[in-house]
Amino acid sequence: MISFSPPRIDQRVIDEVTAVLKSGWITTGSRTKEFEKKITEYCGCKTTVAVTSWTAAMELILHWWGIGEGDEVILPAYTYCASANVILNIGAIPVMVDLNNEDFNLSVEAVRKAITPRTKAIMPVDIAGYPCDYDELFSLINEESILKQFTPNSDFQKQLGRILIASDSAHSFGALYNGKRIGSVADITCFSFHAVKNITTAEGGAMSVNLPDSFDHEAIYKELCIKTLHGQSKDALSKTLKGNWKYDVTEPGYKCNMTDISAAIGLVELSRYQENMDRRKIIFNKYDEAFKNESWAILPLYKTGKKETCYHLYQLRFKDVSEEQRDALIQAIFDCEVAVNVHFLPLPILTAYMNLGYKMVDYPEAWNKYYNEITLPVYFDLNDEQVDTVVAAVKKSVKLIIG
Ligand SMILES: *Cc1c(COP(=O)(O)O)cnc(C)c1O
Repeated sequence: MISFSPPRIDQRVIDEVTAVLKSGWITTGSRTKEFEKKITEYCGCKTTVAVTSWTAAMELILHWWGIGEGDEVILPAYTYCASANVILNIGAIPVMVDLNNEDFNLSVEAVRKAITPRTKAIMPVDIAGYPCDYDELFSLINEESILKQFTPNSDFQKQLGRILIASDSAHSFGALYNGKRIGSVADITCFSFHAVKNITTAEGGAMSVNLPDSFDHEAIYKELCIKTLHGQSKDALSKTLKGNWKYDVTEPGYKCNMTDISAAIGLVELSRYQENMDRRKIIFNKYDEAFKNESWAILPLYKTGKKETCYHLYQLRFKDVSEEQRDALIQAIFDCEVAVNVHFLPLPILTAYMNLGYKMVDYPEAWNKYYNEITLPVYFDLNDEQVDTVVAAVKKSVKLIIG
């Protein structure tokens, strides 16, 4: 069986994790701090805090930014549930918008129509690792009429004076926009290091902050670290220093600090990330070559003008199929011992959001992308022979199901 996205665990990872286990310090410590520094350097952003998941990062950020009851955050209807859940869990309102026609990302025109005086943030999602239209989003939120209706209700919101762009970059670590790495493009960028993502720490995430220079990023780093640890004024490591046991709790915070065990995996992953992306790119190109002359295939967009993906997900779509045929294709491909996936089930077809009143008919482009989509396996350890097996399984299944 060819699996969909197994983690790359080899002797190097095992050695680094073992070293942490033997060191006597397994929670947040020097390795986490080093991982944060390396992410900041790699992304070219101003500061980074590592945490236990994307979900923890984004929920903490929205809360820290002063977003809550009655506030609106705009996001695409086509994403993982986490994007909407963090908004709901801080008491704010997820305002879902449709996708643009050409790729799997949110439509800037749809965002324009969704902005109200209650809009505090926009959460673009770089689906599959392909960056959203950030230039267009920043132009939009800086238009005079939109600046005028912005109603800040926290000091940070006042200081920024406009809608915050907090991107869901769970897929796009390493992707490029205008020659800049994702992380240094939006105001805030949240990454996921979950086991299936391009870089993993088993579970993990990070928030990269890249606000205008008028913000004190060193102070922000300290404040966010305290927020990841119950609002406690000293972390576990500094409390172990002689005579340093006493602490204060300045606010009821979260608990989501990354451990050095996770950071040790992340450091290995990051040090060899370019070769990981290079291999993924080769696999993307092989899939393109294999399917580009097939009349039934719609190939994904992943490198255009100023954008380049980090080659996270290869989203193949099928012309003139029904949702039932797509589901049958998935079954047929699985029957060839190849695991595939669908990215994503649009939020409005899921019970939790349907119950809140979201309707699929309001997001026709999200539906168009979903009902005929299958995501193929892409990962460093997937060898050429396995890629050929995947291609053969897809072609065989198409003959069987579509004819
Ligand atoms: C994986 C994922 C998340 C959640 O990441 P966690 O680290 O599991 O919290 C959020 N958004 C998208 C688009 C994802 O794919």
